[in-house]
Amino acid sequence: MTTEISIFAALAALAALAVLVHRNRGTRKQSEAEVNAWKLRLELDLKNAREERNLLLDALGDAFLLVDSDANIRFANEAARSLFGARELVNRPVREAFLDPRLADALLRCLATGEPVQSRVVLPQQTSPRGDLENRGVNAWIIDAAQLSNPSDGQDPTTRVIIRDVTAQHQIEQVRKDFVANASHELRTPLAIINGYLENLLDDDMIEEPEMARRFLTIMRKHADRISRIVEDMLVISRLESGEANALKVEPFKFRSCIKDILERLESVIRNQQAEVSVIMPDPALVLQGDRFYWTQVLFNLVENALKQNPYTGLKVGVGCERAGDSVRIWVTDNGVGIPSADLPHIFRRFFRVEKHHSQQEIKGTGLGLSIVKRAIEAHGGTISVTSVPGSETKFLITVPRELG
Ligand code: ADP
Repeated sequence: MTTEISIFAALAALAALAVLVHRNRGTRKQSEAEVNAWKLRLELDLKNAREERNLLLDALGDAFLLVDSDANIRFANEAARSLFGARELVNRPVREAFLDPRLADALLRCLATGEPVQSRVVLPQQTSPRGDLENRGVNAWIIDAAQLSNPSDGQDPTTRVIIRDVTAQHQIEQVRKDFVANASHELRTPLAIINGYLENLLDDDMIEEPEMARRFLTIMRKHADRISRIVEDMLVISRLESGEANALKVEPFKFRSCIKDILERLESVIRNQQAEVSVIMPDPALVLQGDRFYWTQVLFNLVENALKQNPYTGLKVGVGCERAGDSVRIWVTDNGVGIPSADLPHIFRRFFRVEKHHSQQEIKGTGLGLSIVKRAIEAHGGTISVTSVPGSETKFLITVPRELG
């Protein structure tokens, strides 16, 4: 009996065990499915987060790269991809991806030290990151590299790199530097002449000879006048460029009165050169909206240039103004020596002069007249262009929008 009971008990225990095992197997299956579902959900979340991150980084205007500790690029945003054109970036070492080692240097320094690095790189056209697309000549970039705050699980750090195109600023700085260099050069010449005559007068006692002293002083005055003219012109350019252009005194004025003013001011030159000046204005009552002071200066510089560059008798000068659709067109023409076609693209540059003119020695320009003209017109929202057939017609053509001009 006891044996039967024992067998029965054993059977019951076995049955219970079987039930337990069965139940356990079910639970394991269920938890495996749960784990898989979690894994899927996590992967999906990760994918979504990555897509969202890429979307945000693609929206950045600057090129953005993520680089691993072995200096391999792991991510490149839209701006970086278009900056480097057809070149493959992701999974390439930075030294290979960047054509010029100077571009990689800042980043590699950051990788080596772990310290953030910001550096400005100026490159020649051939090694621009834009490759064949680069057409701006010397190009400038700011490389900003810093390690991302580190993940806690001991993974290697990732470094983010921002590459910002600062070529436009670089060019503006260059123009300013050139301006200062040219201005100093232009001022140095008359100053040296004045100093030379002063030395003669004082050290060599020429002051005792009134005739000679008077001659020297007259020359000195001429050069002092030139210095003041250059300084005046530079101040006008600087005013026009400093944003004060927004503070132009815009008011309606009759363009005809502007022409009348400048012809009066140039009357003696016109008479001496026996120049023939014709004014073409289909609507003599045409009213412009603008700063009359600058428009007078624009016209004066253009007509004076025509006369100054052709100091002989019989020159023909034309000044015109007419409505043309939504714009007003203003022009100044002459039939003088003209401007060689190779010089035309540079003619509005500060201190630019055509050296080849025979009469250049006698022409006392500052080389700033046309720069003033261009900036004043641009401040009024207009444009100026020039064409020249030497001996036939040199034409400066201005177009200004009607509301403004
Ligand atoms: P400048 O003060 O020397 O006249 P501008 O800037 O007014 O300087 O002109 C720059 C140069 O452009 C002049 O030195 C001259 O060589 C050339 N130029 C301008 N206008 C004319 C013109 N109507 N005919 C021939 N050359 C011109």
